[in-house]
Amino acid sequence: MADYILSIDQGTTSTRALLFDRSGSPMRVRQRELRQIFPRDGWVEHDAEEIWAATLEVCRGVLTAGTTAQNIAAIGITNQRETTVLWDRATGKPVHNAIVWQDRRTAAFCAKLKEEGKEATFQTKTGLLLDPYFSGTKLRWLLDNVEGARAKAEKGELCFGTIDSWLIYNLSGGKRHVTDATNASRTLLFNIETNEWDDELLKLLDVPRAILPEVLDCCADFGTAERDLLGAAIPVAGVAGDQQAATVGQACFEPGLMKSTYGTGCFAVVNTGKQRVTSRNRLLGTIAYRIGGETTYALEGSIFMAGAIVQWLRDEMKLIDSSEESEAMARDANPHSHAVLVPAFTGLGAPYWEPDARAALFGMTRDTGAKEVVRAALESVSYQTRDLMDAMGADMKAAGLVSPQALRVDGGMVANNWFAQNLADILARPVERPEITETTALGAAYLAGMQTGFYGSMDDVASHWRCERAFEPEMAETERAERYSRWQGYVKRVIG
Ligand code: ADP
Repeated sequence: MADYILSIDQGTTSTRALLFDRSGSPMRVRQRELRQIFPRDGWVEHDAEEIWAATLEVCRGVLTAGTTAQNIAAIGITNQRETTVLWDRATGKPVHNAIVWQDRRTAAFCAKLKEEGKEATFQTKTGLLLDPYFSGTKLRWLLDNVEGARAKAEKGELCFGTIDSWLIYNLSGGKRHVTDATNASRTLLFNIETNEWDDELLKLLDVPRAILPEVLDCCADFGTAERDLLGAAIPVAGVAGDQQAATVGQACFEPGLMKSTYGTGCFAVVNTGKQRVTSRNRLLGTIAYRIGGETTYALEGSIFMAGAIVQWLRDEMKLIDSSEESEAMARDANPHSHAVLVPAFTGLGAPYWEPDARAALFGMTRDTGAKEVVRAALESVSYQTRDLMDAMGADMKAAGLVSPQALRVDGGMVANNWFAQNLADILARPVERPEITETTALGAAYLAGMQTGFYGSMDDVASHWRCERAFEPEMAETERAERYSRWQGYVKRVIG
């Protein structure tokens, strides 16, 4: 009788393996940092072979001390999305480093497509905007710039994949070239309406169909990890990109249920149900999950800097010694301070999409000190979340859906109680922090466990979700309105 699901969480900065038991609690964790490669300004790469080696190492690392591969019911995989790998189908060797989602090398090509008026086609079919972020233009770059790649690709001798595909190919000893619908939905090549690779998009990005993986549901038979790798043959049964996995881990299974993850950046996702909502507010439309052949859609918005602002306070401004200290500082700050930080250090993400905007601190008076600046920094994350939630609400209302009524949060920053309370105050909605905050890895485990009968139905999984603490809005409406409109005014100034 198997006791655990093995969850692989391959992230941007590290690769982790976790064991989850039947109650959905993480029992064991191993982690390995990942080398970041910066060949030029704006370029970011990972060594795909290092990712695979680290994956194997951390998986073996959790299978110790009496727990063997025989105790594992199935493997779930969640991964950094959009990061693009191209490898030789016969040898399994990557033809180039993986191009990471943050990489901006295809900015000029995206701008050209936009000028040619192609963005509407991409948005209609994929829900995405034309931005270097997504896999499609990265893949095209590889085909055009790696010697001999295009000719081999045309003959089907290469495989394209996001990190999930790459890991499954290796786990299965080269037998499977597959991905799941959520990862496919981030490539700019996958039509989320028809749930198929789209010939028109393939043509626009000049990508041969022969190199694409087969797209499966999030709960599916993705293949089997070979016996000699982990000590037993284990089915790979669940896959989703990191933000979608966190959506599952937070059990956001009904339209209007919304989660937001506050790590380095912030990613907010709201379930829109069976209905695909096209954003009029420059949010992304995407697949939340596909289970039993049925697609559930979502709207997504991201903030570039969340926890990273706290790191900036610590490392550049030296206002705090540790991230944790920001909580006490914000609590002690003058509550009447009008200082507002617009943290456009690397531009502004959704719903503004202003890459050239830069950060500024407004509204300082003679008595503005370190505490007030720290408070303004934390508040800026709340204001940006409100921007996203309002945009989501407007898009959902236009589609006849009910807007989000609460927010489920996770990620390193939500350990900060002052921040969580401020978030509730600015959103005018309850902010709910779950008992298990490993939501990304948990989501992948749930998917694999639902497929193999280790966990029950989605209803069973939803009933596992427990709120550790709910933060109720306490701020007076007039103050909330005043503060938020001050923020909106200052955002206009950094864009101008
Ligand atoms: P990632 O997965 O992106 O590496 P994590 O979810 O591990 O991020 O969260 C780390 C981030 O959370 C860091 O940017 C850190 O500054 C921030 N953080 C951690 N603890 C706190 C805290 N108590 N208050 C504010 N920010 C915090």
